Amino acid sequence: MAKPIIAIVGRPNVGKSTLFNKLAGERISIVEDTPGVTRDRIYAEGEWLDKKFLLVDTGGIEIANDNSILKHIKEQAQIAIETASVILFVTDIRTGVTANDYDVATMLLKSGKPVVLVVNKCDTVGGVPDDIYEFYSLGLGDPFPVSSVHGHGTGDVLDEAFKHINWDEQEEENDEYIQVAVVGRPNVGKSSLVNALLGHERTIVSNVPGTTRDAIDSPFTWNDKEYTLIDTAGIRRKRSVEDETVERYSVIRSLAAIRRCDIALIVVDAERGLSEQDVRIAGYVHEEGKASVLIVNKWDLIEKDTYTAEKFKKKMLVDLAFMSYVPMLFISAKTGQRVNKVMELAEFAYEQNCTRISTGKLNDIISEAVTMNEPPVNAGRRLRVYYSTQAGIKPPTFIIFVNEPELMHFSYRRYLENYIRKSFEIKATPIRIIIRKRERSDTD
Ligand code: GDP
Ligand code: GDP
Repeated sequence: MAKPIIAIVGRPNVGKSTLFNKLAGERISIVEDTPGVTRDRIYAEGEWLDKKFLLVDTGGIEIANDNSILKHIKEQAQIAIETASVILFVTDIRTGVTANDYDVATMLLKSGKPVVLVVNKCDTVGGVPDDIYEFYSLGLGDPFPVSSVHGHGTGDVLDEAFKHINWDEQEEENDEYIQVAVVGRPNVGKSSLVNALLGHERTIVSNVPGTTRDAIDSPFTWNDKEYTLIDTAGIRRKRSVEDETVERYSVIRSLAAIRRCDIALIVVDAERGLSEQDVRIAGYVHEEGKASVLIVNKWDLIEKDTYTAEKFKKKMLVDLAFMSYVPMLFISAKTGQRVNKVMELAEFAYEQNCTRISTGKLNDIISEAVTMNEPPVNAGRRLRVYYSTQAGIKPPTFIIFVNEPELMHFSYRRYLENYIRKSFEIKATPIRIIIRKRERSDTD
């Protein structure tokens, strides 16, 4: 299921990142203990009342120079408008409503996006501070008093935010065609690749005020199958901020497309090599469990000998060690070199992402793995592996039942994962292993 995005917007120092940390709680360490995945403060998975959402702190993006705070906040608000289901607009009771707050509020109102007005730093418990009434003047409805430091009021904020999310719609999304997202930094060649795949220039929809799409969807057919291409490059806006900032924003833009895709084509620039933002985007694709292909574009610009591609692969895998399964393809969207291989590999990665293994076969392999290499004894106690079952696909997810989950060492878990991969020849997709305690029974 695609998780809805809740975005946090507001002036510097109102407490956005404090609120972000509070709402994300311990879930900031997402999915699994994968070494090498770049963590940052821009997004985290949150959970409230058994429902998961993706929390994005648009303020987590730093600006190189601070010449216009207002411009910067507006840029953040724009990103939130484009990508989020609900926006948390954070203000500060101590400063009261400021001119910048009014500007942002006007922008948010115009967008028609649901907004929850958070008034932070209301630290005193009990009673609503009188000063809160001036926040009604923003025209965003009831202000919600919160203390991000103490955590008061955050539950009410999430309750309110959830009222605006259509959970059924979230479930139904992307059921029809296979969704292929083309993601990456600006200028790596995403549009060129999209055009090459579509076989024609796709129409660029003008950025009509009020359009809140994070990407453009184009249908296309490949190998007699229907796909939808999610093109994050599709909406081009004027460069109002420095290039580096645009790059950082491209990560957030990519998030929205990645979360609803089935396959991510991660495009990078061969000449520039992997940047920090590329690794962030790839890390997010991995954490979301999506099928992916790493497309190294502009290959025509590289002087090559027989070993060039191999050298490139090795070098990139140093930064992408957490997703060593990812298939890589060296292409030129400009000359068309190997563009015809893109969907072939994407389809393969997707098939692998949908791998199903019967419980019988899985258990045979797990027993074999345990026999070959017994779990180590830890403080006099030995991990016992009982049985396992596949819980789902996209990505293939396996639950392994054991006596004491805390005895499962990271390296043993990795061993089992690799054993499963090798035995069933699962390639080109992340897989997930969940360790559960088996309930006691008479046979223990
Ligand atoms: P950001 O720039 O909007 O992300 O703001 P930060 O989260 O970095 O917070 C700015 C300052 O406000 C820090 O010194 C925080 O400790 C403080 N702060 C944040 N939330 C609260 C709160 O609820 N109460 C109080 N008293 N201080 C807060
Ligand atoms: P996007 O911002 O990621 O959508 O990138 P574009 O598709 O707009 O491409 C950015 C620039 O790189 C344009 O000037 C393209 O002509 C150029 N470009 C794209 N793909 C290739 C390629 O394979 N080789 C070369 N030499 N240039 C390319």
